[in-house]
Amino acid sequence: MEFEIKPIAPVPPAEIDFDNLGFTFIPTEKMYVARYEGGAWTDHGLMPVGEFWMHPAAGAYHYGQALFEGTKARLTNDGEIVLFRAGDNARRMADGCRRLMMPAYDEGQFVEAVKQTVLANKAYLPTDEQGALYIRPVMFASGPVLGVKPADEYLFVVFVSPVGPYFKGGFHPIKLKVSKEYHRAPAEGVGSVKAAGNYAAGMYPNSLAKEEGYAELLYLDVNHEHFEEVGAANFFLRKGEELATPSLEDLSILPGYTRESVLQLAVDEGLNAAERDVMLPEIYDADECFCTGTAAVITPIGVVNVEGEDVTIGDGGVGKYSRLFYDQLNAIMLKEAPDKYGWVTTIGKK
Ligand SMILES: *Cc1c(COP(=O)(O)O)cnc(C)c1O
Repeated sequence: MEFEIKPIAPVPPAEIDFDNLGFTFIPTEKMYVARYEGGAWTDHGLMPVGEFWMHPAAGAYHYGQALFEGTKARLTNDGEIVLFRAGDNARRMADGCRRLMMPAYDEGQFVEAVKQTVLANKAYLPTDEQGALYIRPVMFASGPVLGVKPADEYLFVVFVSPVGPYFKGGFHPIKLKVSKEYHRAPAEGVGSVKAAGNYAAGMYPNSLAKEEGYAELLYLDVNHEHFEEVGAANFFLRKGEELATPSLEDLSILPGYTRESVLQLAVDEGLNAAERDVMLPEIYDADECFCTGTAAVITPIGVVNVEGEDVTIGDGGVGKYSRLFYDQLNAIMLKEAPDKYGWVTTIGKK
């Protein structure tokens, strides 16, 4: 069957104020589309960025069969376009497909779709000082269902948008609030996959934290004993030579690959990198805390509010290893440091 889209006029790169990018959708030239129908994926490849028709009974709308990924293309000083661990996004989406009974999309083709979408929109890639080209692969059930069951049709789309740097005016610590009223995701549920519904669930509690002046909530397990993670970033706590992050064992935590990279860098620095339960009282004598994710790479945490009390972490500033890992990871991502683990792929030149 033909697949029709209603194109959205791209904003010409010359009309974009690249020095003042935020984090909003700016229509570019092309997006990548694949459709699952009749038991198989068909790649339509690059198409104009646009809107498409969806059935009102589409499974994504009712029963939440929807997954997304997030990664970035960056521009090195030599004008090379680089991706960071895109194969891990592919694998994570495939894991999510199994969990939500969606049809897995080939992991190699996922990376190919990401590359093609970035290259087709390379005129929109900012310099690294201006930001990055954010890449959003998304998959959802487009086929109609009424009873609760997996749909028969799905769409896989990759689009991109230029975004500004996460830290405007320098690398600075944020304030978090420990949540005792709300949880992000229960153990053995779908917290370990990037299921769209997990993010809808966090919006209301997060808005309450924002009203009180905190950047985000820091979630605990259901017994309020140990930390899980921030709404869309993984949590780390260092005391002396040990750098600890909550273990992935109970499947409530999203396995971030920035997290995994930091654990590797910590080992390389001779720290004791531990994946274990990080208990709530440990916050009172932590030397530093930070969170990790694609958007910011590393975000230092200056203050954590626990039951109404603002606890200052270390001296409240940027911790030693927050700074070190931020610099090291950015240097690897931009090919300014050796890529010992094969994390970086060069896909072309601007
Ligand atoms: C995406 C995400 C992360 C970070 O994962 P990265 O692979 O490092 O970008 C952490 N926690 C949640 C809940 C997420 O959705």
